[in-house]
Amino acid sequence: MDTVFSGIQPSGELHLGNYLGAVRNWVALQDEYRCFFCIVDYHAITQDYDPAALSKRTLEMAGDLIACGIDPERSVLFVQSSVPEHLELCWILNTVTPFGDLGRMTQFKDKAEKQVDNINAGLLNYPILQTADIIIYQARLVPVGVDQVQHIELAREIVRRFNARWGEYFPEPQALLSSTPKILGLDGQAKMSKSIGNTIALGEDDDSIRKKLATAATDPARVRRKDPGNPDVCNIHTLHTFFSDAERIQWVRSGCTTAAIGCIDCKGALADNVIAHLQPIRERKQQLQANPERVKEILHEGARKARAIAQRTIAEVRARVGLWS
Ligand code: SF4
Repeated sequence: MDTVFSGIQPSGELHLGNYLGAVRNWVALQDEYRCFFCIVDYHAITQDYDPAALSKRTLEMAGDLIACGIDPERSVLFVQSSVPEHLELCWILNTVTPFGDLGRMTQFKDKAEKQVDNINAGLLNYPILQTADIIIYQARLVPVGVDQVQHIELAREIVRRFNARWGEYFPEPQALLSSTPKILGLDGQAKMSKSIGNTIALGEDDDSIRKKLATAATDPARVRRKDPGNPDVCNIHTLHTFFSDAERIQWVRSGCTTAAIGCIDCKGALADNVIAHLQPIRERKQQLQANPERVKEILHEGARKARAIAQRTIAEVRARVGLWS
């Protein structure tokens, strides 16, 4: 069974964008692969953040992942900083990573533009720690979005350089791209992001979901009720493809293109289906919120399993590199 690794930032509560773009796929991967899912708090501190809130956000993220279906009996769910061996491997990988490649990473450039007062070395070295996160478990597959493919290519280069210098040991990881269509935020402009405020949180109540969808962006060319619309450029249609059955999706498509339905009808039907889909997740989330000790136990057990493997890898790496022992 191949090993899969994926990480998520401890941004607190999951939203529909995280769920549809990543977590839903992770849940499915558990049936086929040995999975490691990591809440990457070391990565989180490369950006501006509130230290007093980080632990709480980490715990909340863990609860949400479990509520969505990450099963601690089948997968290893843990927090990155509980396994400090990631950092030791990261340091060693620093010494085989081409400096120039780091500065060329699109994500580094984007983040550097957004946080001009905090362009720290961690931001530059982010893909090296990401490589360590993956290969310390000998993972071959990394479910990512297209925006992360460049990092996986760099991870492959780092692995090749490690293997060339210290002997063949790590497999080259590969990106596991999902076929999930691009999901925009409720503004129809950018991808869903908590900081932009264009999301629906998984724990949001019914009224709030309805209100947010009611004001969400649609096909901008459909100005009046009698104008036919184009579902292919409408994010509400994209969301229907996740939450609605084939009959409802066809109703949207034909109703929109002929102006037989209005956007209010279309959004109302979507809201019903989103609420029905999220209901069991919300119930599990509430149960876990009432029992944070259970979530902590799961994270400790995940860290114990992850660390045992990471320590074996580090022992082998130290021997290959020639470090004192
Ligand atoms: S009817 Fe639905 S798919 Fe068509 S523009 Fe309105 S919200 Fe979008």
